[in-house]
Amino acid sequence: MKPVGPIPPGFETIGGELAISGRRASELAAEAGRTPLFVYSRAMLDARVAQLRAALPSRVGLNFAVKANPHPAVIAHMAPLVDGFDIASAGELKLCEAAGIDPRRISFAGPGKRDAELEAAIAAGVTLNCESEGEGDRALAIGQRLGIAPRIAVRVNPSFVITGSGMKMGGGAKQFGVDAERVPALAKHLIAQGAEWRGLHIFTGSQTLSAEAIIEAQANVLGLAAELTEAIGAPCPKLNMGGGLGIPYFPGDTPVDLPKVGAALAERVAHLPSTLAETELCMELGRFLVGEAGVYLTRVIDRKQSHGVIFLVTDGGLHHQLAASGNFGTVVRRNYPSAIATRYGAEATEEVNIVGCLCTPLDRLADNAMMPRAEVGDLVAVFCAGAYGATASPSAFLGHGPAAELLV
Ligand SMILES: *Cc1c(COP(=O)(O)O)cnc(C)c1O
Repeated sequence: MKPVGPIPPGFETIGGELAISGRRASELAAEAGRTPLFVYSRAMLDARVAQLRAALPSRVGLNFAVKANPHPAVIAHMAPLVDGFDIASAGELKLCEAAGIDPRRISFAGPGKRDAELEAAIAAGVTLNCESEGEGDRALAIGQRLGIAPRIAVRVNPSFVITGSGMKMGGGAKQFGVDAERVPALAKHLIAQGAEWRGLHIFTGSQTLSAEAIIEAQANVLGLAAELTEAIGAPCPKLNMGGGLGIPYFPGDTPVDLPKVGAALAERVAHLPSTLAETELCMELGRFLVGEAGVYLTRVIDRKQSHGVIFLVTDGGLHHQLAASGNFGTVVRRNYPSAIATRYGAEATEEVNIVGCLCTPLDRLADNAMMPRAEVGDLVAVFCAGAYGATASPSAFLGHGPAAELLV
């Protein structure tokens, strides 16, 4: 027997079924007209933003990292809830524009921005988080050609990383950002060449559950931003402090102590160095905002036995849920929180392997998990599916096509 991860709070049982935003799983599958489907809960998105606003000092704004969940309805729902949007491609810019988001609320990070992407962003008035000297010069040239002063911040590759992070995105040699010691020269050059200076972006990592690690990273980020601003010799209009807050996926994971993070940040913000006194601050979050608000529902197509082991074969799989299958950034496969959605809360009586429909042994959703007895036609729920699910999985693999998506 292998445990499954903790099911996030906020779900109900109605008529013996998992309910999301008060709607039964079977009803949602019927509304989508097909399975598998991702269901995202408006109420849970609202609750998460409210929880953050309550914990963080009001001076610190919230950006949504669109790559975590670029579903158009999710972007539109987030538009009035958060302060800014972080994009990583011209495609994400189009999605934000379609949602009516003011480009001045958008910043664009990511290594390898094409000239056409830089041009679209500059023309729209999006802030570029500049990832290199070369990119900075290309942006200046495009701005000159368009007759627009490009809005540019510099993304810093800090010499420290967030400890206990699942994915390190700073420290040492990286394709992200500009090494901290080269940032002042680049910033001065951009300003001298007529860019509208927007400040600094320092992102140190992702999926951290430790409040202490986040507090330490934020202290380091604020210290580095003050040093760099001093060296640049121009005020820092905005500091994107990164995010890094994680969500519990696996047995034993516990949620970030948000009040603790917020209290420490409030203390720091109350005693900022004078160089940052006028600086607008924000955090950028993806999975923490949307991850727990999403559930992946997939139908049991077959129930079979092999060498005494029960397999529930579903119509979903790693082509929609690469991370849950254990093939996206994990070394040892552990079970995401999962359940039989149509027998929710029923007693777990048998050990099963829940697998997907792809012809590869990698396609597993839950191993050796204790579940209520499920039959063909039942729905399986995989939780924590609101971030890096639908668009971070190889949905073209094997030709089953993408999952449906519903915001309810
Ligand atoms: C991916 C990414 C994020 C979001 O990370 P989460 O773990 O989803 O919060 C934020 N900022 C940058 C620069 C990123 O690349």
